[in-house]
Amino acid sequence: MPAPIDSAARVLLPLPRAGTSTLAVPDAAFAAWALAEPDCLVVATGACLTVAWANHATAGIFGCDERELLGRSLLGALACPSTGERLEREELVDVHRAVVRDVVVTRCDGQQLRSVLRSFPVGEGWVVRLAADASAAGVADDLHLSRERFQAVSDRAPVGICSSEAGLRLAYVNDAFAEVFGVQPDVLLGTRWLLQLHPADQVVVGDAVVAVLAGTACDLAARVLRPSGEVRSVQLRLVPVRTERRAAGFVGTLEDVTERLSYEQTLAYQASHDPLTGMLNRRGLLQALSVSMARASLPSKPAGTAVLFLDLDDFKVVNDSLGHEAGDHLLIEVARRLSASVRAGDVVSRFGGDEFAVLCQGIRDDEHASEVAARVLEAATRTVEVAGTVVSVSGSLGVVLLSADHLEAEDVLRDADAAMYQAKAAGKDRFVLFDEAARERYRRRHQLVMDLRVALERGDLHVAYQPVVRLASPVSGAPYAVEALVRWDHPVRGMVSPQEFVALAEENGLIAALSAQVLRAACRQTAEWQQAYGSLAPSRVCVNVSPLQLRHVNFVQEVAGVLRETGLPGSSLTLELTESAVMEDPTIAAASFAALRELGVRVAIDDFGTGYSSLALLRTLPVDLLKVDRSFLAEIEEEGAARVVAAVVGLGEALGLEVVAEGVETADQVAELERLGCPMAQGYLFSRPLSVHQLQERMEKGWPW
Ligand code: C2E
Ligand code: CA
Ligand code: CA
Repeated sequence: MPAPIDSAARVLLPLPRAGTSTLAVPDAAFAAWALAEPDCLVVATGACLTVAWANHATAGIFGCDERELLGRSLLGALACPSTGERLEREELVDVHRAVVRDVVVTRCDGQQLRSVLRSFPVGEGWVVRLAADASAAGVADDLHLSRERFQAVSDRAPVGICSSEAGLRLAYVNDAFAEVFGVQPDVLLGTRWLLQLHPADQVVVGDAVVAVLAGTACDLAARVLRPSGEVRSVQLRLVPVRTERRAAGFVGTLEDVTERLSYEQTLAYQASHDPLTGMLNRRGLLQALSVSMARASLPSKPAGTAVLFLDLDDFKVVNDSLGHEAGDHLLIEVARRLSASVRAGDVVSRFGGDEFAVLCQGIRDDEHASEVAARVLEAATRTVEVAGTVVSVSGSLGVVLLSADHLEAEDVLRDADAAMYQAKAAGKDRFVLFDEAARERYRRRHQLVMDLRVALERGDLHVAYQPVVRLASPVSGAPYAVEALVRWDHPVRGMVSPQEFVALAEENGLIAALSAQVLRAACRQTAEWQQAYGSLAPSRVCVNVSPLQLRHVNFVQEVAGVLRETGLPGSSLTLELTESAVMEDPTIAAASFAALRELGVRVAIDDFGTGYSSLALLRTLPVDLLKVDRSFLAEIEEEGAARVVAAVVGLGEALGLEVVAEGVETADQVAELERLGCPMAQGYLFSRPLSVHQLQERMEKGWPW
C-alpha cells in the first residue's frame, strides 16, 4: 500500500520534542500513511530513542499494543544479531542519513525476534521502521552484509548517490550528493530534495522521476539552488528499482557539471563572438541565419529576411595613419551605431577586419530592403572622432533578400558579399541590392567552373601561338619566338576569354592542371616543329605562368620534368610572369629563377610597367626579358607613354635584358618603337595568335613579312 507521494514531505514537519510522552501525531497525512503501512513504524526521539508515536503494526513486532511502547526507549529493546549485545544509539540512527541494519528485537513477552531496521532522520527525531519479515536469518545476514558494503562504498563515493525505496521520497543520500546541494544530507530526505532544486527545474525533474518510477531510466540536466543562493548545474541519472511488495523506487547519481559547462559555454561563446565588439562573428551569424532559414521553410513562413553586408571604405588608411587603437575605437563606434539603427530582434555581427553583417527580419520586398539599407548605411557612416581627429567614415553595403535559391546560409553571405563588391566597384559609399542580374552572373560563373573542370579532364583546351618578331627592318624569316596562349572553345558559349577562365581556374584550384596542360602542349609542339622545320621553326616558346604556380614547391622540378619528357631544350623555353607576381614574393621568385636558369630556361617579366618593381630588385633577379605592357603601346603617340617605353628600353640595355613591346597594331607604332630603339615586338600587326595548323602553313609557305 504505497503512501501518497507527497506525504513524506509533511513528515518533515516538526515532531514532538524529546521527552514528551503524549501520543503526538506529527501530521494527519503522515498518520494516514504510517497507520496504513504493513511494517512497524515508530517515531523515536532523544538520546534514548524514546518512542513518541507508533503505528498498529508495532504489535506484530513487539507483541503488545502500540500505546504500551510510548515513552519507552528503543535502545533497551534492540540488540545485535551476531553478538547479542545491546546496540548504541549511533548504530541505529544517524542525524544525517538513513540507517539500515539487522537487529534482534526483545518483545514485550521476552521473546526475541530478528528484524530489519531502517531509520531516517525527521525533524528532531527519527522514523524507525522494523520489518517483520526478516525471518530467514541467513538471507538477512547476507542482505545486511551487502547493504553495509553498499553503504560503506557509497557514503564515501565522490559522486552523489541517492536512493528512493518508494516514490519520489529519498531514503538515502550520500555526502557527495548533499555537498552539491550545500546542505546536510537529512535536509534532502523525503521529497525535500525537490524543493532544493532550482524552481524552474522542479517540475521537469518531478516529471522525470515519475517516468523513472514507471520503469524508464533517465538522464537529465538540472540546476540546484543552494541555500547561499548559488546555482549549480547538475547531471542527474536515475534508474528504476523495484522491491518486492513495495512501491517502485529508484537509485540515482548526481554529478556537478557547473565548471565543465561553464568551460564549454565559454568556448562556445568565444567561437561565435567577436572579441572586440562582443557581437556575433561570422560563425555566429551563420548559425543565426541557418535558424532563420529553417524557420522560413515552415508552412507559417515569417516575412522576408535580408542580410546587409557592410565593408568600410579605406579603413586601412585610418589604421595606418592613426594607429590600431584608433582603428579599434572606430570599429566599436560603427558597431554601436549599427546596433542602434536596427530593430530589436535584428542581429548585428562583425566578421573581423572592417566587415559587418546585419540580419534583418520582416523585410517585405526590395524596396523595403533598400529603405533599411539606406538607413543603416546613413547611421553607420557619420563622422567619428578618434584620437583627437575627426574621421569621416564611409562604407559599401551589399544587400540580399533570402530566396529559394539560397539552400545554405553560406549562399546568402556569398550573394551579400558579391553585392558589396559591386557597391565598391561602383565607386564605394553606397549600397547595392543583389538582384537577378547579379544572381545570373553568379550562376554563369558557377556553371563555367564546372564546365572548365570537365574541359580539363577531357583535354578540350588547346593552345594558340602568337609570334614575337625582331624589329630589325625589314622583319623577315622565322619569328624570334611564339607566345603560347591557352584557348577554350566552349561547346555552348564559343570562345571564352582566357582572362576570364584563367582567373576562374586560379580561384577554384584548377590552375595547376591548366598550366601543366599548356606547358606540356607548348613544349611538345615546339620540339616537334624544331625537328620538322629546323630554322623555319620558332627558336623558342614563351609560356605564361600564374603566380600561384610560382609558389608551388615543386614548380621547377615540374618544368624540368616536362622538358625531359618532351625533349625540348631548356634554352628554347621562356616563362612569363607578371610584374606583380614577381614582386609578391621576390625571395621565392629569385630562388626559382636561379634554378630555372640552371635548366637553361629564361624568365620574362610580363605586363611590365603596370606594377611596382624596384630597380634594385630587377638588377639582382635572374631575369632575361621585359615585355612592355600593351597599354603603353596603345598610347605611344602620347608623350608620357613614349617616355615609359623609352625608359624600359634603356633599362633593358643597361641591365642586358631583352625588351618586347606587346600589342603592336599599327605601322606608326612600329615606327615609334624603332625610333625608341625597341628591339622586339608582338601584336596583331604582325600576327594574331595562330592555331597549330595556321602556324605550320606559315612555316611551309613562308612568313608573310
Ligand atoms: P598576356 O600574357 O599579356 O597575353 C597577351 C594577350 O594580348 C593575349 O590575349 C593576346 O591575344 C593579346 N594580344 C596580342 N597582340 C595584341 C594586339 O595587338 N592587340 C590587342 N588588343 N591584344 C593583343 P589573350 O590570349 O586573350 O590572353 C589574355 C591573358 O590571359 C594573357 O595576357 C595571360 O595573362 C593570360 N593567359 C593566356 N594564356 C595563358 C596560360 O596558358 N596560362 C596563364 N597562366 N595565363 C594565360
Ligand atoms: Ca604573356
Ligand atoms: Ca602581357
